[in-house]
Amino acid sequence: MRREFDRLREGPFDLLVVGGGIYGAWTACDAALRGLRVALVERTDWAAGTSSASSKLFHGGLRYLERFQLGFVRTSLRERRLLLDLAPHQVRPLEFHLPVYRGDRPGPMLLGLGVGLYRLLGGRDGGGRARLAREEALAATGFLRPDGLRGALRYRDALADDARFTLEVADAAQRAGAVTVNHAEALGLLRGGGRVRGAVVRDAGGGATVEVVAAATATCTGAWTVDLLRGVDGLAGTLRRSKGTHLVLPALGLPHALLLRAPRDGRVFFLIPWYGRTLVGTTDTPFDGDPDAARPTAEDAGYLLEAANRFRADGAWRAEDVIARFAGVRVLQDDGAGTSYETTREFAIREPLPGLLVPVGGKLTSARADAARLVDRVMRELGRPAGACPTAARPLPWRPEGSFGPWLSRAVAAGMEHGLDPEAAACAARRHGARVGEIHRLVAGRPALAARAHPDLPFCRAEIVQAAAAEMVRTLDDLLRRRVPLAILARPDRAWMEPAAALAGETLGWDAARRETEIRALGSLFEPPP
Ligand SMILES: Cc1cc2nc3c(=O)[nH]c(=O)nc-3n(C[C@H](O)[C@H](O)[C@H](O)COP(=O)(O)OP(=O)(O)OC[C@H]3O[C@@H](n4cnc5c(N)ncnc54)[C@H](O)[C@@H]3O)c2cc1C
Repeated sequence: MRREFDRLREGPFDLLVVGGGIYGAWTACDAALRGLRVALVERTDWAAGTSSASSKLFHGGLRYLERFQLGFVRTSLRERRLLLDLAPHQVRPLEFHLPVYRGDRPGPMLLGLGVGLYRLLGGRDGGGRARLAREEALAATGFLRPDGLRGALRYRDALADDARFTLEVADAAQRAGAVTVNHAEALGLLRGGGRVRGAVVRDAGGGATVEVVAAATATCTGAWTVDLLRGVDGLAGTLRRSKGTHLVLPALGLPHALLLRAPRDGRVFFLIPWYGRTLVGTTDTPFDGDPDAARPTAEDAGYLLEAANRFRADGAWRAEDVIARFAGVRVLQDDGAGTSYETTREFAIREPLPGLLVPVGGKLTSARADAARLVDRVMRELGRPAGACPTAARPLPWRPEGSFGPWLSRAVAAGMEHGLDPEAAACAARRHGARVGEIHRLVAGRPALAARAHPDLPFCRAEIVQAAAAEMVRTLDDLLRRRVPLAILARPDRAWMEPAAALAGETLGWDAARRETEIRALGSLFEPPP
């Protein structure tokens, strides 16, 4: 991937997309594939906002059935199915167990119907029997609190690395011809003739500014939309934001995830196996501050630990067991619901000014389909035929050709021949897909790169070198939170941070002083919560 800030001067563009989360990436990709001249600018890094702070699920959202949002769930499940095909290296099936206890509300009958309907809507679920008897549920999840347990319900969804997925979609946009630039902030909209005509964009690296002129502008700025468009009529008071926190805890040794209900308020939360750790989340609290300042609080952590520990019979997690934590902010349509948890996640497009399109709401899962609707509107705005949506039938660029299962086995075997341990070989294959040969070549040339970047985590050092060389990395934060997410999965420790900075520095030309600055900047992210 190339970062070419100066190409932003090549306007006028047909479409300027502001914001490089999953919505911006899919929008730019779809529009470029439909033949538009597209520029995509991201203030910090690809997926630096909410798109790296999600629960990592490609799912319909079983809980939305409780609110009878059938269409919403069906769309997401259709997308889940599609992306399992278009990006099987990134999006993988994950089984969920929903333990059922005496006295639960909704009761077992309704829950069973809900899971049955969910599996039906999902089609091709392949998740085996829907009901597990009590003893089966206990055997499958050894630590479950047994008293009151009646059994478990079972269904399938899918899991990915959200930041990596977004990076691949941004790469797809670039390959389709879009000019894609991270660390480039839109400072304000350009206006003329009663229309929005693009934006003023500043290069975070050199500080240069450029007027990026475009016939249409889409602000895919998620939680930052409220600030970027403050003062634009028709938006104020129609959006609401909520924050969600996840905790990273040690592995529970489960191949499946759990869907549980917090005893304190009945909200649904998950225990999800991710890169050898357990993600516990999420909270859902109203948020009205600066999204850059959104941090997990001690209260968030207390809520999640209390909720998770209610289901454990093998000893409770304590605050000091928390390895890491992260928070993201959603922007939602304000539908007047009593709580942010109940507020609709449905996607909508606002057009508060001619030439300006503002997406609101949505999900990681449905972002491709939602972006297609957005690009349809752009085509109409430009007076061009919308045509068929190109992303619906196009594998992501790193998708290996042919049948995925056999390819994965071959790629893992090849990685092991080059000296990677089996877990690291599988991890590299999934994360790099068809490009995994580049990791193998790096290791062949320098065998020390086969070692893990952190002893507990499955990323080899070659992944760090590859990211620095070819994945538009500018800072250690880009590298270690989104390309190779050590900083999300491990406690801060110079023992792994310094070698990682040194490896990246070889490619990025960082001297000792710069490496130290980068390590300190990254370290500040680990400060204890307020
Ligand atoms: C806690 C939580 C858990 C979730 N879990 C799931 C899940 O498991 N599955 C699922 O499907 N969905 C999930 N979601 C929803 C999903 O994460 C979001 O819908 C999605 O990530 C939003 O993407 P986005 O591109 O709109 O926003 P973002 O990812 O936030 O992207 C907006 C980008 O705009 C950039 N930006 C802002 N201002 C400017 C500017 N002036 N110039 C340039 N760039 C700018 C930001 O830096 C940011 O990168 C979850 C959401 C939350 C909060």
